[in-house]
Amino acid sequence: MLNFGIPNNFMLSIVDIAKMKELLHKKKDIVITTHLNPDGDAIGSSLGLYNFLLQKKHKVTVIPPNDCPDFLKWMEGSKDILPYESNNKKADKLIAAADILFCLDFNALSRIDKMEPAVANAKGFKVLIDHHLQPQSFPDISISDTSACSTCQLVYEFIEALGETSKIDTAIANCLYTGIMTDTGSFRFDSTTATTHRILADLIEAGAQKTYIHEQVYDTHSENRMNLLGHCLAHKLTVLHDYKTAFISLSAEELERFHYKKGDTEGFVNYALSVLHVRFAAIFIERNELIKISFRSKGNFDVNTFARENFSGGGHFNAAGAHSELSLDETILKFVALLPTYKNSLLA
Ligand code: MN
Repeated sequence: MLNFGIPNNFMLSIVDIAKMKELLHKKKDIVITTHLNPDGDAIGSSLGLYNFLLQKKHKVTVIPPNDCPDFLKWMEGSKDILPYESNNKKADKLIAAADILFCLDFNALSRIDKMEPAVANAKGFKVLIDHHLQPQSFPDISISDTSACSTCQLVYEFIEALGETSKIDTAIANCLYTGIMTDTGSFRFDSTTATTHRILADLIEAGAQKTYIHEQVYDTHSENRMNLLGHCLAHKLTVLHDYKTAFISLSAEELERFHYKKGDTEGFVNYALSVLHVRFAAIFIERNELIKISFRSKGNFDVNTFARENFSGGGHFNAAGAHSELSLDETILKFVALLPTYKNSLLA
């Protein structure tokens, strides 16, 4: 079979690859955007692609809806990120003038929050690269693989499909490695495949500084964050053994008491999931008049559906986000009251 060097199972047709090669052949004005509250995969994929496109001499700007956490700010290009929240006039002009808009790590325009109208109305050619379930049909080209562990893996495969992996340098490799690492729980989730590890091997050969990356991302917590985590584990963890479920909740008062800063509760839900026999975990956080919820699961309990059906959220099969407009206590009561309905699948 002819495959023109295109990786097996890649979700981009030869026609689309030819179109992308043609589009990127001459210097273009390019905007890369990603979802609200960008995480390691969002920023890693955006800056990985950014550094690649800069090498190809394009004019590129990364515009996320808001700023990214400090533990990602070591990445090459992070100083040039233009958060929409604080630069909307300049960003609107760049978005309107862009020849190409790359939409990374999100499946629906509502995920870019206040940027939605600007991007929806933009005349530029739109390319989606994403791994979330149920992607919308707004892009001109959609590179969507819901089985992929991360958008960073898809960006690597995109560069591979263009036949340009030789352009991957330390900067690009570090960015892509970071997103794969953070979106796979450090290579442990089921979505981490042999292909993922082959790509990681290629990234390490291309210069990815793995020890440095792990330290930058995981070993930079503040004392306040560690104290808040201690409080959660000692006083706020509820385990419902009958439903193999555990959850943590935090009120606005508690966040204030521990001098909460954005990002401090990142990963807390995984501690609930790490209790023996627990297969479903949640964290409820009272912030900005809303209850922010994260769901995680192990095995075949589908938290994407659970979040969609009950808390107008969604995401992936084993990791989803949502919110509630009820009070914190009412939200928890609603959550606990739902568990009997799901008992069969929780105990399956
Ligand atoms: Mn992702």
